[in-house]
Amino acid sequence: MKVGSPDVEIKRISEEMQQWGLIPEKIIGKHKVVIGLVGDTASLDPLQIQEISPWIEVVLRVEKPFKRTSLEFRHGEQSEVVVSTPNGAVTFGKNHPLVVVAGPCSVENEEMIITTAKRVKAAGAKFLRGGAYKPRTSPYSFQGHGESALGLLAAARDASGLGIITEVMDTADVEKIAEVADVLQVGARNMQNFALLKKVGAQDKPVLLKRGMAATIDDWLMAAEYILAAGNSNVILCERGIRTFERKYARNTLDLAVIPVLRSLTHLPIMIDPSHGTGKAEYVPDMAKAAIAAGTDSLMIEVHPNPAKALSDGPQSLTPERFDRLMEELAVIGNVMGRWQDRNMAVV
Ligand code: PEP
Ligand code: MN
Repeated sequence: MKVGSPDVEIKRISEEMQQWGLIPEKIIGKHKVVIGLVGDTASLDPLQIQEISPWIEVVLRVEKPFKRTSLEFRHGEQSEVVVSTPNGAVTFGKNHPLVVVAGPCSVENEEMIITTAKRVKAAGAKFLRGGAYKPRTSPYSFQGHGESALGLLAAARDASGLGIITEVMDTADVEKIAEVADVLQVGARNMQNFALLKKVGAQDKPVLLKRGMAATIDDWLMAAEYILAAGNSNVILCERGIRTFERKYARNTLDLAVIPVLRSLTHLPIMIDPSHGTGKAEYVPDMAKAAIAAGTDSLMIEVHPNPAKALSDGPQSLTPERFDRLMEELAVIGNVMGRWQDRNMAVV
């Protein structure tokens, strides 16, 4: 719509579109309102729509298979995912400071989760991660403490003020997890669990959608489309490494090229997880720095008080001391990129 389009006119056009059998979705941008039209638009001529009102600036067809997820759907404007945490709202998005999410792979016990939460908070993280329900390759590996771990996450949230990000694997657990989590994580192995995508799309908490280990970018964006189509547009995309022929030196191949690629395709915020992306703690800092330089909006870093004893993903977990140092290193690049929260922090 043209700048300054009257609300009544936007409403009138939306109602007319409904009569045409389409679903109009009003997207309020910084400068303009965009009306997204979803439905069977294949046979429609954009000029027919253009004629409805002189306030329509342009009618564009989104040619991509993903619609609501596409950058065109929002007229090129990046979206923001605002998450409320005990310490206030935190915004994920291209024009906001980098958000760091840190914590252990699994919630093991009260003491470890609370100390880790306080440590990562002091270092500058805004969210605590930690799995209560763990997707494990082997049924004999530690599966997570389940419901009791949710209680421990709630305690860590109270003790630290950090927001909580934790994984949901089963549609039956969504409500229970959403009571504790500020962001629901859908893991790589469930990226195409369509029942789960629909379910997390039909509730209010923001969703962190990890890229499946063999998913193309289109597969991934179509998975996000399920969540948006179900009504939840607060989705963050997390690259966590894909499977390639290289298996010996890195657990996965961290695809940092997705950052510019996603920027050109979608308005959704981006997170990079160098911990699962490399599988080795010693490689995590360099890839975290590279991700900031490439323009990521957030980072997920696994941190464990005693990685050697971790019940899952010890080899890729940083110690709290190494995480402290990493945050100082990240501040340097974050400042250069204009993406660091504490803008007064000296660039060394
Ligand atoms: C995790 O975050 O601990 C996890 C299991 O991640 P992914 O789904 O990316 O393997
Ligand atoms: Mn893990």
